[in-house]
Amino acid sequence: MKSRYVESDARKLVEGYAARSVPEDIALRVYTTRLLGGDPKLVLHGGGNTSVKTRTIDLMGEPADVLCVKGSGWDMAAIEPAGLPAVRLDALRRLRARDALTDEETVAVQRANLIDPSAPNPSVETLLHAFMPHKFVDHTHATAVLSLIDQPNGIELCREVYDGRMGIVPYIMPGFALAKTSAEVYEAAPEVIGLILHKHGIFTFGESAREAYERMIEMVSLAEARLQRNRKAAFVTAQMPQTTASVAQVAPVIRGACAMKDHGGEGAHRRLVMEFRAGEAVLNYVNGADVARYSQAGVVTPDHTIRTKNWPLVVPAPDAGRPEEFRTAVEAAVARFAADYRRYFERNNARVGGIKKMLDPMPRVVLVPGVGLFGLGRSLGAARIAADLAEAAVEAITDAEAIGTFESISEADMFDVEYWSLEQAKLGKEAEKPLAGQIAAITGAGGAIGAATARAFAAAGAEVALLDNDLAAATLKAQAIGRHALPVPCDVTDAASVRAAFDTVASAFGGLDILVSNAGAAWQGRIGEVDEDVLRRSFELNFYGHQRAAQAAVKIMLAQGTGGCLLFNVSKQAVNPGQNFGPYGLPKAATLFLVRQYALDYGADGIRANAVNADRIRSGLLDDTMIAARAKARGVDEKDYMRGNLLGREVTAEDVAQAFVAQALALRTTADVTTVDGGNIAAAMR
Ligand SMILES: [Zn+2]
Repeated sequence: MKSRYVESDARKLVEGYAARSVPEDIALRVYTTRLLGGDPKLVLHGGGNTSVKTRTIDLMGEPADVLCVKGSGWDMAAIEPAGLPAVRLDALRRLRARDALTDEETVAVQRANLIDPSAPNPSVETLLHAFMPHKFVDHTHATAVLSLIDQPNGIELCREVYDGRMGIVPYIMPGFALAKTSAEVYEAAPEVIGLILHKHGIFTFGESAREAYERMIEMVSLAEARLQRNRKAAFVTAQMPQTTASVAQVAPVIRGACAMKDHGGEGAHRRLVMEFRAGEAVLNYVNGADVARYSQAGVVTPDHTIRTKNWPLVVPAPDAGRPEEFRTAVEAAVARFAADYRRYFERNNARVGGIKKMLDPMPRVVLVPGVGLFGLGRSLGAARIAADLAEAAVEAITDAEAIGTFESISEADMFDVEYWSLEQAKLGKEAEKPLAGQIAAITGAGGAIGAATARAFAAAGAEVALLDNDLAAATLKAQAIGRHALPVPCDVTDAASVRAAFDTVASAFGGLDILVSNAGAAWQGRIGEVDEDVLRRSFELNFYGHQRAAQAAVKIMLAQGTGGCLLFNVSKQAVNPGQNFGPYGLPKAATLFLVRQYALDYGADGIRANAVNADRIRSGLLDDTMIAARAKARGVDEKDYMRGNLLGREVTAEDVAQAFVAQALALRTTADVTTVDGGNIAAAMR
């Protein structure tokens, strides 16, 4: 590992901030915090913190000695001065005289001594920073250091590698007791340049930002060098099936098994989204004959617990030729995992006096020999964090096993961190959106109604895939949504293209819960004279296109076993034909009956099928030129033409999108047709 400190970059940042009245100490603290945060081998997803001791002017205009320490919720790679709240240093240091201090008391003292009362909560490791005398203090959970210290003889290994340059602190969970013991370890050997926190991570100190940072790099490099010496052979690979099933095949089975019944009532599920990883290191790890031992030994650093749980779920390698066998094995494995988790909770909750409330018992990391690993979360963002941390654990455990035997903290210690109130607070308390954990695919998402629908589902909390045969259009619309919206090429008139698109969705998110089958186009012609070829082309898109998409969606939904929702953009034409619109209305009428057939055939599987009949929506089907022509033909202006309905209001793509969202949420409604046309008695359903 090399230092990435560049003097001219640091200067540039100092000068830039100086122009905005940010002092040099803070600017340099920002600079090296970003360097640390930008290297995943040092810091992942909030797993580290930094501080600087400096002097500031308080709200009364008086000078105050403060500790500026990373605030909760800030990402080190993108930290700004506002992410380093200033706390009065003397108040923090006076706490050292106490014998004990609860986490709640610590947080209260820290908040009461913030210079800016609206600043974020200082890091949970603030006291440790405060008790050290050094101006700059850096803390990471560097992967190489974890490989060294997550060993039965980790302390001896550190003595050998660091030769008295680092103090060694036994494992204690973060908080007051750890800060106090760390200070004692430091004071017993004040020549040390940092501390190793056994089975947790590493601190380095410096009088300058550069010194503390470069000491971190040097100490981690020493760990890396040690990991290259006296390595045992890599994991022995277990016997694998001749052909393993694909990610798209295994993901929905696992996702379905990990969904829970929800208190929302019958048919409601609490689902997770999945992120897949399969690099060389991951495959080497999950394929190991001994994976059941080393993967179940616990976390590589307690910081991972809230995101990954303490243990991943291991399922058998999926034989492509025996999908039912795999499904049964996965269901049994998940049930065992949940039962073990309940027992773990009850055992440890009894130890702490029965005061904790159990989190959901489902895995957050699943290892699939022959395939790879999945991170699971209530959103793709959370799933990606779990997958990133799982990959870091794979690396740390692989290296730990190469030089010895991986060993974690005790079960009781893991529980104390998992159910530590301050860690739970990191997960955030904001109310979940109504479609959180659900995955929606929208066909024709490059167009006006499809894009509005994708936006509406994303706003309701779903992960969205935008399918369109115009990938550039789908990509633009996906980018506008941001988050994790995924553009996917899909021509619904081509069976292979539909299969590939739905495989892509299942691989990218783990499955599918909602299909909005929206792709369509209008053909015209007087029915007695129209060319048969025109009619067939329209049926290919406006009927078979819906059937192909629905069939592909149902396949994934049945694999999950948690129901689902098929939504179809039918049309007013399906019930109220327009003159010369036969080639468009006829397949749409067939699609209306397709909705009813799906509702009938799959109701028992919890799969609902509903339709929206929309009319006169400004879109690719009804563009400005057509609007002008039709308005003229009827002798009205364009505005009146668009408002030609009972309510006298123009109906928009957003109105159609909201109708789809409402249908997705209505768990007791199937075979329904919702009319979104501003009122048209001739097109009314009943
Ligand atoms: Zn830490």
